[in-house]
Amino acid sequence: MSSSHTSSHTPRQSFVFVILGPPGSGKGTQARRMADTFGLTQLSTGDLLRKAVANGTPAGLAARAEMEAGALVSDDIVIAVLKDALARPDGKDGVLLDGFPRTITQAKALDALLTGDGNAIAATINLVVDDDAMVARISGRHSCARCGEGYHITFKRPAVEGVCDICGSTGFKRRADDTAETVRVRLVEYHAQTAPLIEYYDMSDVLFSIPAMGEIADISDRIKAVIAAKMQV
Ligand code: AMP
Repeated sequence: MSSSHTSSHTPRQSFVFVILGPPGSGKGTQARRMADTFGLTQLSTGDLLRKAVANGTPAGLAARAEMEAGALVSDDIVIAVLKDALARPDGKDGVLLDGFPRTITQAKALDALLTGDGNAIAATINLVVDDDAMVARISGRHSCARCGEGYHITFKRPAVEGVCDICGSTGFKRRADDTAETVRVRLVEYHAQTAPLIEYYDMSDVLFSIPAMGEIADISDRIKAVIAAKMQV
């Protein structure tokens, strides 16, 4: 990209993966597992925006109302937040984008950014799920307040009730936008704005659609096969 005010973003030859899917499809859970397995950085624009809201930054103040309503935050804000995160080198082998891009404008901005760095998307992993199940999945989910591990009141309870399997903490939190009403808005937004990306990435031959309704570990195995082949590990 010929931008003069931004320096380099992703290191040359670093691997860039995108995880695509509707709210509740398991993007965050799977991105976290893949980041651990392959030594990649998980970049979630939802997490970055939630932090910006909590810290009261200008981006956070501008994004807050849309996030609470389940609507998409404007492209300009999200692209700026993502560029900022990509520009921070962390010595990892690559990044896994979780929740970005969510519009064609964002996808084009990402392509331009990567091309400018001599880089390209290695694979876009599209999690294929039944919409009908997403409201139930999201309404019951919560996470460890300390380490962020995700849980669900029906589908994924900790081994010891009230204690995080990973870090032993007893504090849990729920996202403010994980209510049945907001999930419906988020699904509508997904179909209107984000689903067209499936065709966009299919046209550039980087799309891998993965059935994502079963066991978390089985879905991870399918995704791992795609990433391992691309990274040749
Ligand atoms: P997530 O954690 O990915 O479900 O994102 C939570 C909320 O953050 C979304 O409902 C949007 O309001 C906002 N958001 C996250 N990523 C994006 C994005 N790429 N474009 C627009 N809004 C976003």
